[in-house]
Amino acid sequence: MENQQEWLHQKQLRIEELTANFSMSKYNLLKISYLARLLDESVQHAPTCNICRGNLSTLDNLVEEIPHLDLIDHRQPYERQFNAIRAHFHQQHGFIPPYKYAPLFALAGILLTTLPVAAWTYFSKGRVMLDPILAAAAIGLLAGYFRGAQKDGVYRRAKKMI
Ligand SMILES: [Zn+2]
Repeated sequence: MENQQEWLHQKQLRIEELTANFSMSKYNLLKISYLARLLDESVQHAPTCNICRGNLSTLDNLVEEIPHLDLIDHRQPYERQFNAIRAHFHQQHGFIPPYKYAPLFALAGILLTTLPVAAWTYFSKGRVMLDPILAAAAIGLLAGYFRGAQKDGVYRRAKKMI
C-alpha cells in the first residue's frame, strides 16, 4: 500500500511534467484531470479489486502516451482504454458520470407533467390546449432538474463521480 501511494505520487509528477506546456484547452480536451482521477481511484481500489490492480499498468502506459496524443493512431487506442477503465468504475464501484441525473430527471419531469395535462385538456375541454401544457412542461422541467441535481450532488460530495 505504501509502495502504491509512492507509485501514484510518481505518476502524478510525471503527468505534471508531460503536461507542463499544455494550454488549458488542450489539457481539458485530453481529459488529463480525469486521467489523474482514474489513477488515484485505481490505486485506492487496487487492494480489493483485481481489475483495478490490472488497470494500473494500463494507466502507466496511458500516462506515457500523453505526448503522442496529437496523432490519431495514438489517440484512438488511448481513448478506448481510458473509456474502458472509466466504465469499470461506473459498473463495479458505484460511480456515475458527471451530470447524469439532472438532464435525465428534467426530461422525465417534462413527460410526467405534460402527458397527463395534455390528456386532461383533451378529455375535459374537448381539445388539446397549449398554455397549460407549456406551464406543466416548465414546472416538470424545473422540478425534475432540481431533483436530479440533488441526486448528482450526493454522488459528487461522496466523490463518486468520474
Ligand atoms: Zn475495480
